[in-house]
Amino acid sequence: MKQKRAYKYRVYPADEQKQQLSRTFGCCRFVFNWALRKKTDAFYKDNQRLYYKDLSEALTRLKKQDATVWLSEVSSVPLQQTLRHLDRAFLNFFEGRGAYPTFKKKCNQQAATFTGNAFIWRDGKITLAKMDKPLDIRWSRPLPDGTKPSSVTISKDCADRYFISVLVEEEIEHLPASPESIGADLGLKDFVALSSGEVVGNPKFFAKDEKKLARAQRRHAKKKKGSKNRDKARRRVARIHARIADRRRDFLHKLSTRLIRENQTICVETLAVKNMVKNHTLAKAIHDVGWSEFVSQLDDKADWYGRTLVKIDRWYPSSKRCFDCGHILDSLTLDVRVWTCPECGVVHDRDINAAKNIHAVGQTVIEACGERVRPGAVKTKPGNARRSRKPKK
Ligand SMILES: [Zn+2]
Repeated sequence: MKQKRAYKYRVYPADEQKQQLSRTFGCCRFVFNWALRKKTDAFYKDNQRLYYKDLSEALTRLKKQDATVWLSEVSSVPLQQTLRHLDRAFLNFFEGRGAYPTFKKKCNQQAATFTGNAFIWRDGKITLAKMDKPLDIRWSRPLPDGTKPSSVTISKDCADRYFISVLVEEEIEHLPASPESIGADLGLKDFVALSSGEVVGNPKFFAKDEKKLARAQRRHAKKKKGSKNRDKARRRVARIHARIADRRRDFLHKLSTRLIRENQTICVETLAVKNMVKNHTLAKAIHDVGWSEFVSQLDDKADWYGRTLVKIDRWYPSSKRCFDCGHILDSLTLDVRVWTCPECGVVHDRDINAAKNIHAVGQTVIEACGERVRPGAVKTKPGNARRSRKPKK
């Protein structure tokens, strides 16, 4: 089966291209915020829902108005795509996968998407609409043989780096079936605890980077507002942020690839469930972002490689339940890392016990339905957990 996959590369646009991109990003941002405002007003003031088609027509009218005629200076395709992105953001919101969309700011990451009719792909080079020269792309790895880009998204991050994400359709072969399965719990202290008893921590370099980041942020705060030095300090903060994000993503990719390769089934709890039982601090918020990204990587890779990801999205007392006897504690505060079951006397590491329970629930879901299912549809009895395989050493 053909699958869509994106490949991301660094881009070094020429000065003129930078200006063109900056205009395009600006227009996309404007259109996004304009459409978000329109949709929100229509919903709250007039009790109406605006759809892509309505907004697309309104955008055509907007481009003809004197005050916003500058929107016609850039390719119309990324603007249309912006409306599609907004549509998807709303869909995610209504289906409970995301927060209500917020306005885009100039200081955040900028992006514009060009579909096939808005760029030229020739001799391995990509030229965007309204540009006369191809982009200088560093092809760090080749696109798969025989594929051609169906759309490209060009972005600029807060550290002023440019990237291109190239979407292609390719044949991805499923991995040979594996007898293994595993449960993963978002750890409190470490990144993830696995039902096999393994704990995967955040690599040490995060701590080092975070110290550097804190120092850079303090320096930035001390500089006079509007000064050149403050801008320099801001860039430095952004660069460190970008490096942390890169390393974290790399770490998550390696881990998700490994779990997908080794296991036929991977069971995880979704964050909606997590947030019901855990508190919210900044450090945890960052932790959560990593978790969402991790789960979505697993989701993609499970699709590509023919694996099953079971997302436990209904409430289940994974931390408070003793994996060995099924006893459920009345309460378990966040600071308790190790506890002893009053019923059977087994000593549990909090996160690993939770991962084992998640694994067990996932197994019952698979057994009940055989196929990929939403656990919400299946009744999970704690007793069933005993039937699961003993975790490997
Ligand atoms: Zn017990």
